[in-house]
Amino acid sequence: MILSKMNGRVRCDMGGCTNPAEYAVGREGLPPGSRLFLCEECAKKIAALVVKAEKAKKEREK
Ligand SMILES: [Zn+2]
Repeated sequence: MILSKMNGRVRCDMGGCTNPAEYAVGREGLPPGSRLFLCEECAKKIAALVVKAEKAKKEREK
């Protein structure tokens, strides 16, 4: 996976979010158009949610 910095000319892909995209998430070998664009706020929220979900999963496995 690739995480690249955006120049802010694209909107965030998250539904209901109108912030300019800060990051582009994509996969190696795929066209740039297939990337997911996220603003800093949404990227951080998603990252926090993933961390939380991972923690919950680990807790259940104990
Ligand atoms: Zn956003």
